[in-house]
Amino acid sequence: MQIYWTRINKITEETPEVKTFLLDRPEDFTWEEGSHTHFALEGFNAGDKPNRSLIRHMSISTLPHENTIGITTRIKEQCSEFKTILKTIEVGTKVAIFKTHSNVPLRRENKNIYLLSSGVGLATFRPLVLDYLERADNVNQIHSLNIDSTKDFLFPTVFKSAPDKNFTSLFVDNRKDYYEEARNLAADKSGIYYIVGSDEFIVQNMEVLRERGITPEQIMLDKREKGRHELLSSVYPGQDNFLIDAK
Ligand SMILES: Cc1cc2nc3c(=O)[nH]c(=O)nc-3n(C[C@H](O)[C@H](O)[C@H](O)COP(=O)(O)OP(=O)(O)OC[C@H]3O[C@@H](n4cnc5c(N)ncnc54)[C@H](O)[C@@H]3O)c2cc1C
Repeated sequence: MQIYWTRINKITEETPEVKTFLLDRPEDFTWEEGSHTHFALEGFNAGDKPNRSLIRHMSISTLPHENTIGITTRIKEQCSEFKTILKTIEVGTKVAIFKTHSNVPLRRENKNIYLLSSGVGLATFRPLVLDYLERADNVNQIHSLNIDSTKDFLFPTVFKSAPDKNFTSLFVDNRKDYYEEARNLAADKSGIYYIVGSDEFIVQNMEVLRERGITPEQIMLDKREKGRHELLSSVYPGQDNFLIDAK
């Protein structure tokens, strides 16, 4: 396993609670849209075993051509040791990234794509949308729906509807509006539905999709095979193959 040590080169305050840490991009480090990485703070590998309280899974909210690795996270007043360190971490501090992989690349299959997310889950989708806006090949349209009860919606310049590019972005601040809209979107029987949020959020969205006749093959989750199987089998009982054919 290769550990990339790099440095924080900028910290952006996206909203009062959400920050993006922009890291220098090591020369030989690249990634696909939708990737997550292991983001670790200094000292994580100082002992015999890795110190898990200094490591978190984080999506990369940028694309390689931006030439910086973006990590976007919410830091509440009451927070973990990891986020407490992030609260006061400074530009120039060394951090590590390793085991980078995308479970949610953009499926270019001439279909409509729906991005369903909650809060900072939108960070996972930012590179997918940028990739699509730069090159729309084999994607009919993208529709993003995000719920954030803080009403401080993320990345407003990227997530701005662009009718000429077949991109629609909707932000809502309450569950009633969210699930009403999700139900409407799920009327598209051939769409591809990406979901990012807590497991509870994922399950609730999948229940809406299942009721509308959407099949597991049409659902993309930011989970490895085992996690995907666990969640999908709870909503689609009686089925046991939830793999997506690589197209
Ligand atoms: C594939 C993947 C991608 C991911 N991508 C991202 C990403 O891009 N951005 C991101 O932010 N997360 C991402 N996550 C989730 C991330 O790994 C963390 O689990 C998440 O950010 C929570 O961090 P934390 O454990 O440090 O807890 P915190 O965020 O600090 O806390 C979680 C909750 O517990 C409460 N809490 C924590 N400590 C206390 C305390 N002492 N007292 C009272 N309440 C407390 C907090 O208020 C909060 O509501 C991803 C996870 C996966 C699996």
